[in-house]
Amino acid sequence: MSSTQNNQSSALQAEKTLTPTSTSMPEHISLNKWEDSGFEWVGEIAPGSFERLATSLTTEHAQSDLLIKANLYRRNNVLHLAFTLTGEVWLTCQRCLQPIVIDLTDDYDIVLLDNESQIRLVNEEQDYLLLDEIITEQSPERLLPLKKLVEDEILLKTPMAPKHDDCEMTVEQFGEIPEEEGTENPFAALASLKGKL
Ligand SMILES: [Zn+2]
Repeated sequence: MSSTQNNQSSALQAEKTLTPTSTSMPEHISLNKWEDSGFEWVGEIAPGSFERLATSLTTEHAQSDLLIKANLYRRNNVLHLAFTLTGEVWLTCQRCLQPIVIDLTDDYDIVLLDNESQIRLVNEEQDYLLLDEIITEQSPERLLPLKKLVEDEILLKTPMAPKHDDCEMTVEQFGEIPEEEGTENPFAALASLKGKL
């Protein structure tokens, strides 16, 4: 009887270790809770679960999950949201309308400033956002919209009108294909049969 319980708990543990990334990406991170201790999230997410990105994804090619490692941390008293993205998305080539792959793999790091007076704390190349402008949720907690910020960066990296480097040849496919009366044509086959009889 106790063995059943043991089996159940070990099965649960096995499931846990097999799918460490099963929790879905949090929409928000509570800054009240995490801005001092830091916050990390690692997981996989389907490109289609980003609503704005989803509208430009092609349906002509399978999409693979994106691997995301996000890290909220404080350095020199400045809050950062950093994330590493690994993966690609399939969009539609605006020239030949065939699927085109866009690699999103990159490291991203955004400084999150309390107000404009902190701008002097960051160097010129550093991306920054003002927390007042990105925390829009009406909530007693200060909620950082993690998923939205990640999607913003993906959209910035995604070309508005993606085109293959070289896809002129495929335009020929859209020309008129002359109809041929091949042997597969059942009427032609019937006609020739008739002639023989
Ligand atoms: Zn193309």
